[in-house]
Amino acid sequence: MKEVIIIGAGPAGMTAAIYAADAGLTVRLIEKGMYGGQMTTTARIENYPGFTEIAGWDLSQRMFECVTASGVSLTTDNVLSLERSGSNYKVICQKNTYEATAVIIANGVTRRKLDIPGEKEFAGKGVSYCAVCDGNFFRGRDVAVIGGGNSALEDAAYLGGICRRVYLIHRRDKFRADDKYVRAIDSFDNIERVLSHVPIRIIGNETLTGIEVKDLKTDIKRSIPVSGIFAATGLISDNSAYSGVVDLTEEGYIVSDENCLTSAPGVFAAGDTRQKKLRQIVMACADGASAAKRALEYLNGV
Ligand SMILES: Cc1cc2nc3c(=O)[nH]c(=O)nc-3n(C[C@H](O)[C@H](O)[C@H](O)COP(=O)(O)OP(=O)(O)OC[C@H]3O[C@@H](n4cnc5c(N)ncnc54)[C@H](O)[C@@H]3O)c2cc1C
Repeated sequence: MKEVIIIGAGPAGMTAAIYAADAGLTVRLIEKGMYGGQMTTTARIENYPGFTEIAGWDLSQRMFECVTASGVSLTTDNVLSLERSGSNYKVICQKNTYEATAVIIANGVTRRKLDIPGEKEFAGKGVSYCAVCDGNFFRGRDVAVIGGGNSALEDAAYLGGICRRVYLIHRRDKFRADDKYVRAIDSFDNIERVLSHVPIRIIGNETLTGIEVKDLKTDIKRSIPVSGIFAATGLISDNSAYSGVVDLTEEGYIVSDENCLTSAPGVFAAGDTRQKKLRQIVMACADGASAAKRALEYLNGV
């Protein structure tokens, strides 16, 4: 029996499951939480082709309907580790251990939180963790970006092109980003650097109206009026369960190429979990399709 195990039912895992099942493989899709992954946490998606606007939950459901229609076996379990077992792999989970010849890892990432008052209340209602996803909702308005690494500066430059003013708030007195990102934000006169400051509170009643920050050099607090806050303090990629089998980057992403091949034969990585530049639904779906096709070739000995 040609069996593939897919870990994670976000857009990458669900697309991989649909393609693998359609190709005649026996597919077990293991998910520890909600089918849909990160999509389920966002109210509106405006950049997934085919829909001018769709709720994250609705898009998840539509993908999930395609998965169930494909005859995929669904397993609710938490994957703890992956081990080589002869020509197969053992996927060791909290409740059970499953075995297959090919494995597609599509476990995604989580977004680092700011951990300040108001964040939970305004998450998805002014607080965003993805500038490319949500920037358009704040076109022509004032926003803040929190962070000082490459992604924060990339986000600031992206938002600088569509928002009226961007406050770039960073705890250190210098950015951690590469020079090219610093040069890029220098070319915007609507990006204001707020260095040596930390965010301490999100302000608003019905709607988000600003952010309170503290100057780390003087301890003086002040409020900055904004309609949107973009947390760009990093993604958390937890691939420790797979580190004994596949190579990881320094940041913990799975090393793989555009075909989703990893350093281990028969193990493929799809979506946000793998080393890549753009982490979006459409990219995750593309990876899922590619990984399933490569898994099929691997199982067919091609
Ligand atoms: C708030 C928010 C808004 C966004 N808006 C947009 C947008 O508008 N447009 C866009 O294109 N992108 C958007 N994104 C990004 C997009 O959601 C991701 O790029 C995409 O979901 C990545 O898909 P994935 O399948 O790789 O991973 P994920 O969606 O992260 O799915 C991974 C799945 O794996 C499961 N999993 C993890 N570990 C285990 C384990 N050990 N065992 C079993 N299961 C496991 C998780 O529970 C999860 O369901 C947004 C993200 C967020 C957080």
